Amino acid sequence: GTTRTPLIAGNWKMNLDHLQAIAFVQKLAWSLKDARHDFDAVEVAVFPPFTDLRSVQTLISADKLPLKFGGQDLSAYDSGAYTGEISGAFLSALDCQYVIVGHSERRTLHNEGDDEVAAKVAAAIKHGLVPVLCVGETAEDLEKHGPSAVPVAQLKAALAGVKDGANIVVAYEPVWAIGSGQAATPEQAEQVAAQLRAVLVELIGQESAAATRILYGGSVKAANIAGFMRQPNVDGALVGGASLDLTEFSSIAQFQ
Ligand code: PEP
Repeated sequence: GTTRTPLIAGNWKMNLDHLQAIAFVQKLAWSLKDARHDFDAVEVAVFPPFTDLRSVQTLISADKLPLKFGGQDLSAYDSGAYTGEISGAFLSALDCQYVIVGHSERRTLHNEGDDEVAAKVAAAIKHGLVPVLCVGETAEDLEKHGPSAVPVAQLKAALAGVKDGANIVVAYEPVWAIGSGQAATPEQAEQVAAQLRAVLVELIGQESAAATRILYGGSVKAANIAGFMRQPNVDGALVGGASLDLTEFSSIAQFQ
């Protein structure tokens, strides 16, 4: 997308403790600055575990690093008797700009259904966070329903209560491509991204749909990022495994 600022987002999952996080973020910022990365032209964000966020916030603000960051999940609730949960208010208080919602690992391993994902999207927006909403089909869905049906249904369900003009990011992540080394082709990603954008017009209006970044995720690496970024409806990537490798992630961010 030419008018949308691309976003390269690193989902660390349950990797890197707070000391490792500080070292990694510092090296990442140095590496990108060394390469004269234009952070206004291509946004770079990291999604560390919750226990790292305070350290990452402190480092980024002290050193004025041009990196964005966010949580990997949030509670649908603001506060209360929800042992082990993290509220969007807490993430906002740590200067998070983003929060991942509905990652396939949350949907599968923690049985998050469409209603919970929708409630989390609403909670993120309520607390001033930009949700990075993940949608995507499994290999079985793909075989039964084709590539777009499940991601489109997940998008509609997740944004059911969201108003026109909402500021969101959508990540199209085919489940069969996550951590498999088997990325979708750029053409496959574009086909689904274009359909998701068409549905966004109905859901949040023409203007917001045109402004929404749609990321591709699933086995993105330095060697395949350029093909995705050439697609008109793909505006960045959500990167898992390769986001933990400094040189890989740094090269992905410098795809152009
Ligand atoms: C992810 O889990 O969001 C992801 C895209 O993982 P990977 O890049 O490792 O496939």
